[in-house]
Parts: sequence; C-alpha cells; structure tokens
Amino acid sequence: MQEPMMTISTIGDLKKKLSEIRQGRSVGFIPTMGALHEGHLSLIRQARQDCDILVASIFVNPLQFGPKEDFSIYPRTLLSDQKMCEQHKVDILWTPTQRELFPTSFQTSIEVQPLSQRWEGATRPGHFKGVATIVAKLLQVVHPEHLYLGQKDYQQFRVVEQMLSDLHFDTTVHLSETIREKDGLALSSRNLRLSPTERKAAPIVFRGLRQAGQMVAKGEKNARDIVAKATSTIQSEPLAQIDYLVLCDPKTLEPIEPLEKTSILLVAVKIGDIRLLDNIFLSPSE
Ligand code: AMP
Repeated sequence: MQEPMMTISTIGDLKKKLSEIRQGRSVGFIPTMGALHEGHLSLIRQARQDCDILVASIFVNPLQFGPKEDFSIYPRTLLSDQKMCEQHKVDILWTPTQRELFPTSFQTSIEVQPLSQRWEGATRPGHFKGVATIVAKLLQVVHPEHLYLGQKDYQQFRVVEQMLSDLHFDTTVHLSETIREKDGLALSSRNLRLSPTERKAAPIVFRGLRQAGQMVAKGEKNARDIVAKATSTIQSEPLAQIDYLVLCDPKTLEPIEPLEKTSILLVAVKIGDIRLLDNIFLSPSE
C-alpha cells in the first residue's frame, strides 16, 4: 500500500476499509498498548517486509490489568505513536474505543489453561484471560494472515499461540526478538516510569540472564545451578526484587532439569513499583 496512513476507530469503518483494499493481499497485524518504542517498531519493520498491508492497533486493554495495577497511569502518547506508525509505513492504525469493544453487555472470555496459570499468571490472576480475550477479539475484526508478537513477553506469546491453535484461527504468529537499550535493559513502555536511580539498577536483570548464558556456554547443564547464578547476580542489586526466575520448556513453560534441549530462562523482577520482564533462550553446549 502506498496511500497515507489512515487512523480508524470504529469496527465498522475498519472492516469496510479492509474489504476495499484487501483483494487477496496479505495482512499483517501488530497489536499494541501504545507508548511505542523501538521494540514495537521492530515488529512493524518485520511485518512490513512480510506483508502487503499492515494494520497496527493501540488499545490499553482494561481486562488485562488487575485492580491494583497501573491501568489509569499507563502512558498514553497517541500523537507521537501516530507519527511513528506513519513513518514506518503502517497502512491502518486502529484505535478502538473501550465503549465499542467492551459495552456493558459484554460477557465472553477466553482462558488458556494451564499455560496462563504459571509465572506471570500466578502473580497477575486474570491477566492472560484478558490478553487472550482481547487478542481474539482484535483478530476477529482484522482477520490477519500474520500476527507479530515480541519475545520480551514470551508467556503472552505462548498463550496466544496456543489459543490460535486451539480455536483454529487462520493466522500465523511470529515471534520477534527482544529489542534492548545499549545497557541491556529490554525496552518497555513501563521503563518511562523508572526513577533515575531505578533506571540505573534495571540492567541487572539482563546481566543476570547473560551470566546464566555464559555458564551454559561453558557446559553447565544443571538447571538449579544456572538459575542460582542468575538469581545471585540479580540479587546483588538492592533495588531488585525477583518475583520468579525459572528455566522452562519453551512450549509447556514447565521447569526443566537438566538442560537437555533449548529452553527458556524467564524472569520477572520488581524495581520499585515497576515490574520488568525478560527472558533468554538457552541451548546446551555440546
Ligand atoms: P505492549 O504495547 O507492551 O502490549 O506490546 C506490544 C507488542 O510489542 C507485544 O507483542 C510485545 O511483546 C512487543 N514488545 C514490547 N517490548 C518489546 C521489546 N523490547 N522488543 C520486542 N518486542 C517488544
């Protein structure tokens, strides 16, 4: 598509526009909650290479926030998000309204279990129910051939991938690598809320993961020792509070022991009030 980007709010307008322009061409979809950064843009770039038509959405989904979480103060930066999408050749930016997506009569939800109950789901009950439900709703409107999600939120990727398979969606999901600051901190819209001291402490999370990776490269296969190494590194930072740090099977997200095939080290750390998620894949060295 070469026309200027359109920003569309209503489901009716979006469906109409998509049916006009689709004509057998492939659609790629990038759902986001806005406050866009290089992580989001890397998904957009990948989609731009693969697909004829690009749809991105911005919707801060109330269903995936717990009652004590940061829904009301989640950063909302629509004007600059619009500009970034335009510059990266998004064709349609969909900005649905809460009123249309969740009218008071709304009753349906999707649960992907047991995947949703572990790790992030254990700390944030209902979170992945909210994620699966909103993603299913957005896909029902856009019907993309391709969906792009980031590795930073790996459990979210697995929940969505499982849902797509279980519910026979005709959409292929692509996992896009985590984009980081120079000091290793995974980009996240929530990083904006770290104080300067917290921001200085935050790179310890990836440093812990990397040290575990170095151990594995030297031949370590004992999962408990690998996790212990990452734990002690992260705990060396007084502001960092580990919520979970686990070496898991990338499909089931169940803990593994020993490391025999490519696995994923998942971590959630609180720095002040901000939860930081990160992960790396680890493969046993020969
Ligand atoms: P969000 O706006 O936080 O809901 O994220 C929208 C999409 O961008 C999700 O698929 C995230 O996994 C992805 N994403 C967020 N941060 C990053 C990052 N640092 N690198 C790659 N993808 C990311």
